[in-house]
Amino acid sequence: MTTCEICQSNDFSSIEAKERMFGTSDTFTYAECNSCKSLFLLDPPADLGKYYPSNYYSFGEFNSSNPFLGLLKKLRYKAFTYGISISPPVYFDWLSPLKLTKNSKIADIGCGNGQLLAELSYCGFKSLHGYDPFVEENYIAKRFSIRKKDFFEIEETYDLIMFHHSFEHLPNAIEVFENLTKILNPGGEVLIRVPVTDGQVWKEEKEYWFQLDAPRHLFIPNTKSMQILGDKFGLELFNTTFDSMDSQFWGTALYKKGKPLMGSNIEEEFSKEELADFRKKANHYNKEKIGDQACFYFRKKEA
Ligand SMILES: [Zn+2]
Repeated sequence: MTTCEICQSNDFSSIEAKERMFGTSDTFTYAECNSCKSLFLLDPPADLGKYYPSNYYSFGEFNSSNPFLGLLKKLRYKAFTYGISISPPVYFDWLSPLKLTKNSKIADIGCGNGQLLAELSYCGFKSLHGYDPFVEENYIAKRFSIRKKDFFEIEETYDLIMFHHSFEHLPNAIEVFENLTKILNPGGEVLIRVPVTDGQVWKEEKEYWFQLDAPRHLFIPNTKSMQILGDKFGLELFNTTFDSMDSQFWGTALYKKGKPLMGSNIEEEFSKEELADFRKKANHYNKEKIGDQACFYFRKKEA
């Protein structure tokens, strides 16, 4: 790579990184743009599917709610929209900056087993569509659908397009934004939850960073690169919220010990006090905007 596709800088640093989630130790190389701080995987493997085995976390067990629990979830969301919080699940926070109605047409890119779509259906959302190229087959239910499809094959248009830690698995951020402008309805919104190189953990630990996740993460942005992408494609970046978690600390510490994520027991590796400190530190990092992941909210102009 000679020119950064985001900011056109020619100034890069190179970082060698190992596959650490499963501990295969296959080695890859990232380039970090020294201007916009985007990270690019230079040598993605030809067969990426091999790095998404059946025990990959987004294909975990699907939990359905019985009608009674479904009703409680519906009431809980209704109360939330009136400003009453009764042990709100984390996705209420993700949704709150968005302009949604029950009829908004919503797409979840890289939806895995569809758990979030199911939860949103209990909240009362009526048009829910998941896409994931790594699911076994299409799944069309009354409440939501999942299609075995790549993001670039989507032709329908949406009011909200969400990426919950899937954006970084796509090869070309410019093409992703180009496609977004095509499949977003006028006034439509985008929520991208993604790891960011603004994180202090990345700056301090480099190749041991838990969310570098070679070779699954093909592109990792910075708050700077997300602003540039929005500007370039006429999508207004109207909100950025850091939502990093304790895993940035225990995951990175685990990798520095040379242990893979799969097969490790975090409760055995770290004391209760250490884990409590990690949670506190993550909240602090988010306030300081140095956490290792963030939520980016974009809006397309009304026609
Ligand atoms: Zn750049």
